Amino acid sequence: MIAEVIVDVLSSNVDKVFDYLLPENSTIEIGDRVVVPFASRQIDGFVINIKETSSYDATKLKQIISKKDAQPLLSQNMVRLCFFMKQKFFIRLADAIRLFLPPAVRNGKIKEKVVNILFLNCDEESFEKVKKSPKQLQALIYLKEKGSEKQTELNKKFGASAISTLIKKELIKIEAKKENRKPQNNFTVNKKEIILNSQQTKAVETITHSNYNTFLLHGVTGSGKTEVYINCIKNALNNGKTAIMLVPEISLTPQMFARFKNAFGDTVAILHSGLSNGQRFDEWNRLRSGEAKIVIGPRSSLFAPLSDIGIIVIDEEHDGSYYSESNPRFHTHEVARFLAYLNNCPLILGSATPSIESFHLAQKGEYYLISLTERANKHELPSIEIVDMLSEIHNGNTGIFSTKFLTELETCIKNGKQAMIFINRRGFSSFLMCRECGYVPKCEDCDVSLVYHKEDDMLKCHYCNRRYRVLNACPKCKSTSIRYGAVGTQRVVEELRKIFNSTPIFRLDNDATQNKNSYIEILENFNQTSPAILVGTQMIAKGHDFNNVTLVGIVDADISLHFSDYRAIERTFQLITQVSGRAGRSDSEGKVILQTYYPKHFVYRCASNYDFSAFFKKELNLREVSHFPPFVRILRILVLGEDENKVLKTLEELFNQVKQLKATYTSDFIYLQAMKCPKKRLQKNYRYQILFRIYKKNADEIISQVYAICDKIKKQNTSIFIENDPQNLS
Ligand code: ADP
Ligand code: ZN
Ligand code: ZN
Repeated sequence: MIAEVIVDVLSSNVDKVFDYLLPENSTIEIGDRVVVPFASRQIDGFVINIKETSSYDATKLKQIISKKDAQPLLSQNMVRLCFFMKQKFFIRLADAIRLFLPPAVRNGKIKEKVVNILFLNCDEESFEKVKKSPKQLQALIYLKEKGSEKQTELNKKFGASAISTLIKKELIKIEAKKENRKPQNNFTVNKKEIILNSQQTKAVETITHSNYNTFLLHGVTGSGKTEVYINCIKNALNNGKTAIMLVPEISLTPQMFARFKNAFGDTVAILHSGLSNGQRFDEWNRLRSGEAKIVIGPRSSLFAPLSDIGIIVIDEEHDGSYYSESNPRFHTHEVARFLAYLNNCPLILGSATPSIESFHLAQKGEYYLISLTERANKHELPSIEIVDMLSEIHNGNTGIFSTKFLTELETCIKNGKQAMIFINRRGFSSFLMCRECGYVPKCEDCDVSLVYHKEDDMLKCHYCNRRYRVLNACPKCKSTSIRYGAVGTQRVVEELRKIFNSTPIFRLDNDATQNKNSYIEILENFNQTSPAILVGTQMIAKGHDFNNVTLVGIVDADISLHFSDYRAIERTFQLITQVSGRAGRSDSEGKVILQTYYPKHFVYRCASNYDFSAFFKKELNLREVSHFPPFVRILRILVLGEDENKVLKTLEELFNQVKQLKATYTSDFIYLQAMKCPKKRLQKNYRYQILFRIYKKNADEIISQVYAICDKIKKQNTSIFIENDPQNLS
C-alpha cells in the first residue's frame, strides 16, 4: 500500500505530495502524523491519502519509518481545507497544516499536567505504627478527614520526608491524575433568564432551519445578537454537533467569555494569545477529545480540532483582524464559508456595522440578510450630538475638549455615572491638517489622504506611491497654522486630570496593556468604579457591556477619516457606531458627543442618525466611481528579503511578467506599479511591492495566473506573498 504524505518542510520547492510505502501490517491511517526519510534526514509528515498503487516506480519509493501519535491529528475535512487554502491563498500545504497544530502541540514539548493525589491506605488501627512521628501521624489524620489531597499540598503541610516515609510504609497510596490547566476568568456576569424577543426568535429559527447558508445578521448595538448566537449554538449542541464562535481578539472580553461560561459551562473552550502554552494545550485537547464542544476565540480558532461542526459564527464580521496579514495570509470569511460547506452547516456573520463588501453580497443575494432593529432593553439608541471644532477655535477655545462635552461630562460625573472617552490612534499614520479651515491634503490620483513620513519629510500616497511636498501654508485659506497628526490618549488623560482631579480616570491602550492581564484588570477596575472615566483607543470600542456608562465622548472623530485607506470612511462609520453603542446599555439613557472639524461630512450625518442604509448607498457609489472594492480587486505582491539587491532582482523579474499579463488583459487593469513599501524595512527584511487594481470580471483568472507567475519565479533568498484586497498597505 502507498501513502500520500505532505512533509513538514516550509519550502515551496517541496510543497507537494510525496508517495511513501506503508510498512507491512501498519495501522497508519489518513490524518496520521508520521516520520519519513527525506533527503538524508528523518522528518515529520502527514498522511493525506492511502492508495493501492503509485505512478512512480514503486521499487524506488521509501518507506514510512513510524507513526507519531496514537490518534490521527488531521481529519479528512481538515485536509480538504488545506488544499482549499493552497489553491485560494497561495499557502503552502505545510503552512496550512500547521494552522491546525498549535506550536504547543506540534513541538511535543508541552505534556499533560499530571498531579499525584494521595489517599489513605490503611485503617485507623495502623496509625499506632507512626505514633512516635507526630508529622506522619498528623498527615494520616488529615487524610482520614479530607479523603484525598495533592502530594504537593501534603508535602507543604507535613514535610516531604514524612510523606515519602508514609508512602514507603504503604500507609498511603498515590494515584496520578490528569489536571486541566484552565484559563483564568475572574470576571463574572450575572446569570439572567432571557426570553428572546420576536426578532431574535425569528432570527434563530431562520438560521437553524436552513442548511448551508451564510447569514448576515445586521443588528444594532445591544440588539441581542450574542443571545442569538448562544441560542443557535444550543440548537447545534442539541443535535450532537459542535460550534465555532469567532471574535476579534480585541473584543474577546472577559465578559463575553463569562456569558458563554454561564450558558455552556465547561463545554466551552477558549483559545487566545493570552493563554500559557499549557492552558492552550489543555483547551485544545479538551476540544479534540470532545469534552468541550464549543470553541470561542480569534480567527485561528477556525482550525480548532472539532468534528461535526454544527454552526460557525463570526462576530463583528467587519473587523480588520479577520484578514490575516502575517503568513499565512488568508481571509477568515472565505475559509469559514468553505468549512461551513464541508460540514453542511450555517455560517453567521454578525455586526452592527457590516462591511460594505458583506452588505453588498447580502444585497446581491449571496448572503441571507437578517436584521435586528431594536435594542433588547427597548431603549432608544443613544443620541449622537455633533460638535463643530472649527467653530470652537473661532470662539476662542483651542483646547482638546468642546464646551458642550465638558458640560456633559460634569453632569455625568455628578450623577455618579461612568463616561468612556474614545481617541483613535494608530501610531504609524499621521497627516497634516489646516487648523483654520480643516483642509487635509489628498492624493490627486487616488483621492485618499496623504500620509506624512517623518524620515524624509514628505507626504506620500500609499496607493500609488506619489510623493508630495509638505505644506507650509494651506492652499485653500492660506493660513500657516498647520497641525501635524493628532493628540493621543496620554494627553487626553493629562488634560482631564486637570479638570476632574477627584474622579478616577483609567486609560486603556496598547501601551497600558503590555501584559494581557492588565487589560482585564483595567476593565474590571473601571467596571467596579462609579463615577469614573475610561479613556482609550479602539480597544474600548468593541463588545463591552458596562451598565453604568451614560456618556461617550469621541475626541477627534476625523482621525480615522484621514487614514490613507480607501476604507477610511467605512472605518469611521463603524467606529462611531461601535463606540456609541457602549452608552446607555441598561436602564439609564446614553448620550454621545462627537467632535469633528467636518460636521457636514455625510459619514457623520449618517452615523449620528444610525442610518446604515443611507451610508451604505453613498459609500458604495463612491467606491464604484473611484474604482475600489467591492467593484475592483486590489492585489499586492510583496517581496521580502534581507539582501536588497536580491529583492530587487526578484521584483524586477516578477514585474516584467505581470506587465506581460497586463498586455494580455489590457482592459482589466486599472493600475499597475512596482515600488518600495511604505515601511521599507521591517525585522531586517527589505520590503518591495507590486500593486495593482483590476476589474472584477476576469479577476479570478488573472489572479490565478499571478499565483502561477510567483510560483515559477526563482526566489533568490526572497519571500513572495500575494495579498488579495489587503487591509493595510504598510
Ligand atoms: P449585541 O451583541 O447585539 O450588542 P447583546 O447580546 O450583548 O447585544 O445584548 C445587549 C444586552 O441586552 C445584554 O445585556 C443582554 O443580556 C440583553 N438582552 C439580550 N436579549 C435580551 C432579551 N431578549 N431580553 C432581555 N435582555 C436581553
Ligand atoms: Zn485652510
Ligand atoms: Zn495616489
